[in-house]
Amino acid sequence: MRLSLRLGSSGVLRAFPVKTSKNYRWLRGIHRYWILQAEIVWLLLFIAAFALAPTLALFDAEHLVGWTFGGLLVASFLAAVIQHFFFYRAIRCPKCGYNPTRHKDGTNLPRKTALKRLAEMDSCPSCKAHRDV
Ligand SMILES: [Zn+2]
Repeated sequence: MRLSLRLGSSGVLRAFPVKTSKNYRWLRGIHRYWILQAEIVWLLLFIAAFALAPTLALFDAEHLVGWTFGGLLVASFLAAVIQHFFFYRAIRCPKCGYNPTRHKDGTNLPRKTALKRLAEMDSCPSCKAHRDV
């Protein structure tokens, strides 16, 4: 992926990927790209549960293993549920309310299909808006 440097809307110099067919341009434009990035939170918590519990056992803290493992798994599950909620509810066109992650009948698109659609969107297919208006 090639990067170019541009001044962001806040005047801060940031690296933007050069336009390709898959760069979530619309999603970045409406400032909701962080919802995809937030997926790392539950994944890190999940990995930490399996890494930290045996580490505690090694350091004679067996009484903490259950709580640590359970707590991190519950936190990971909650983070995944919250991320899922934001993915299907908070990605909307700020101008017309169009939600590209859901079918017209209100059911969720399969995640892979929704991600492919988001990756290729340059503007809102409903009102043609490019970003926050
Ligand atoms: Zn729209």
